[in-house]
Amino acid sequence: MMKDSQMARHYMVDLETMSTASNAAIVSVGIAEYNETDVLRTFYTNVDLKSCVEAGLAVDPSTIMWWIEQASPARAALMKDSKHLTVALTGLATWLQDDGPSNIIRLWGNGASFDNAILASAYKALNLQQPWPYWGDRCFRTVRGEFALDPADQPPRVGTYHNALDDAVTQIHWHQAILRRYNMRLGS
Ligand SMILES: [Mg+2]
Repeated sequence: MMKDSQMARHYMVDLETMSTASNAAIVSVGIAEYNETDVLRTFYTNVDLKSCVEAGLAVDPSTIMWWIEQASPARAALMKDSKHLTVALTGLATWLQDDGPSNIIRLWGNGASFDNAILASAYKALNLQQPWPYWGDRCFRTVRGEFALDPADQPPRVGTYHNALDDAVTQIHWHQAILRRYNMRLGS
């Protein structure tokens, strides 16, 4: 039996990026801690694209063209108060550490090769230690694909499409709906 202090803490992260490669430049990070019923804490930061390119992260013209086609609230939100990549990543690490030891972090992203891999690659590009353990990687896209929800059980979209925090919170609501529907709990 695990002690309370060793209980896993679950986080959903969503990145907005300028490429879909695993070394993509990151333009915003949204992340929220959650449990079976609630969203507990949130963190959001925009990232200065130039600082990503200077760190060697990738920009793909087709992703830039995709962004130009998106709704203006999502594009405008990217421009506000952008932080240097170093400041953004150390800020995220500090926010995670405020909760306790890193070995209990379970980090959910949307796609086994997407958010978590890109974020790990950005920490590596700056020679910073990634603030969650590799065994804490979790894939929400897999869970969503394997545990289908009837339309009546599907939670409504919150906020702005492609706003990283709104996307993360929407995914959390979906995950919580799956847990309810299939009578499951978050893992340890
Ligand atoms: Mg998103």
